[in-house]
Amino acid sequence: MLLMPYERKEIAPEKIREQEEICRRIFDRVTADGGRPLAMVDTYGCQQNEADSEKLRGYLAEMGYGFTQDEFQADVIVVNTCAVREHAEMRVLGNVGALNHSKKARPGQIIAVCGCMVQQEHMAKKIKLSYPVVDLVFGPHELWRFPELLERVMQSGKRVFAAEKDLGAVAEGIPQKRDGSVKAWLSIMYGCNNFCTYCVVPYVRGRERSRRPEDVVAEARALVAAGYKDITLLGQNVNSYGKDLDCGVDFADLIRMVNDIPGDFLIRFMTSHPKDATEKLFKTMAECEKCAHQLHLPVQAGNDRILKAMNRSYTRQKYLDQVALARRYMPDLVLTTDIIVGFPGETDEEFADTLSLVEQVRYDAMFTFIYSKRVGTQAASMPDPYTRADKQKHFDALTELANRISGEKHREYEGKTLRVLIDGETGREEYNLSSRTNGGRLVHLKGDPSLIGQFAEVTITSSNTWALYGEIVTRTTDH
Ligand code: SAH
Ligand code: SF4
Repeated sequence: MLLMPYERKEIAPEKIREQEEICRRIFDRVTADGGRPLAMVDTYGCQQNEADSEKLRGYLAEMGYGFTQDEFQADVIVVNTCAVREHAEMRVLGNVGALNHSKKARPGQIIAVCGCMVQQEHMAKKIKLSYPVVDLVFGPHELWRFPELLERVMQSGKRVFAAEKDLGAVAEGIPQKRDGSVKAWLSIMYGCNNFCTYCVVPYVRGRERSRRPEDVVAEARALVAAGYKDITLLGQNVNSYGKDLDCGVDFADLIRMVNDIPGDFLIRFMTSHPKDATEKLFKTMAECEKCAHQLHLPVQAGNDRILKAMNRSYTRQKYLDQVALARRYMPDLVLTTDIIVGFPGETDEEFADTLSLVEQVRYDAMFTFIYSKRVGTQAASMPDPYTRADKQKHFDALTELANRISGEKHREYEGKTLRVLIDGETGREEYNLSSRTNGGRLVHLKGDPSLIGQFAEVTITSSNTWALYGEIVTRTTDH
């Protein structure tokens, strides 16, 4: 079923209006006694999940809920889960199990578990059988009808499970309650068609489907008008944007359309699959003054046999050529990547190719993972003779190399003056503000919190593996 051809589906606007109508009914129900009910949304995993949680909070706010981080204060708890690695799933299960305590202390508390983890049949079953504390389970495809599902639990007092197999749809108009006021996530597409052999995402998130360019641009415009200064366009593979729409707009065109919105703000995006990052994209990034010179280009491995076994559809050489091309257009490009260590059957020699690729590319930062077997993926049935200890050795060697290079790259910033966007407080006394360079590197600063949301020129005074430290020279824009 999952490999069936996908026909694009859109959720009709009336259906979202119906959900908002249900929100109003829930509002009347939960605020009837004059109190202010509270909800807690706990998010695991990627930025797409962060963006989805902003929609869950949007609906909850319409239902009259305020928000808390304390499970003992919450009337509704929603745990938005991740399935990419086993580690994330174990954390979710541990934390959901522990909600027994809050539910005992607060009878009537409703606990919902949603997201990618429960879109896997075996996990939905596990929760059904072993986690009676959970009242509602729904997969990513059901998020648009969360109010309806929650109302069903409230009315029936019974457990509700809604994580049917589906290839996904596009739903516009879901209310959002955003986390920050400076940086915003903007989903431009959902799902993935790539079926990398280790990855569960295409099974749980459905097929690639793009939002219409006019909807993306309208949302970006609204974000800019609301004062957001840093907009990250999100998709599992943004380079496939528009392919399912046939409207003649590809990802590079979309960047240009967002870039044309008046205002002083930055455009970032993730993730780009190297198999189809184009010269047009790099040229557009270089030409659009609001587009950050930052590229997250996950390589996963440096050896051709492993790349083929992963079904990544590019070779080491093609990847290196792309990096060279991107850097030709943007000599100041900040480049980051994801790497998986210990893919089934990866030998010492094959791993050495990953190390040499990293030495050659010299990433600004890397996200490294030990391979995690995912139920139902092709790699799960590949022979895997190496032990966890072998993989850990490789992982440690890679981390050490990544840290050394990040440290060296950060040192090159010292003494330079550059433009940053001040985006928050660190909670620490000495360097109380955090900011990001155009390329997305973290800079700690000292200054008045009223500067949050402003661009500033800073001189970098010191650095370490993880961050830069600087002094503000001038503010460059006002709110
Ligand atoms: N769509 C994005 C990645 C989504 S998952 C892309 O293709 O780049 C984020 C990262 O998790 C991946 O890049 C990969 O490095 C890692 N990952 C995915 N599945 C994994 C698995 N089974 N084990 C370990 N790491 C995995
Ligand atoms: Fe997973 Fe590959 Fe799709 Fe990324 S491109 S989400 S790694 S299948």
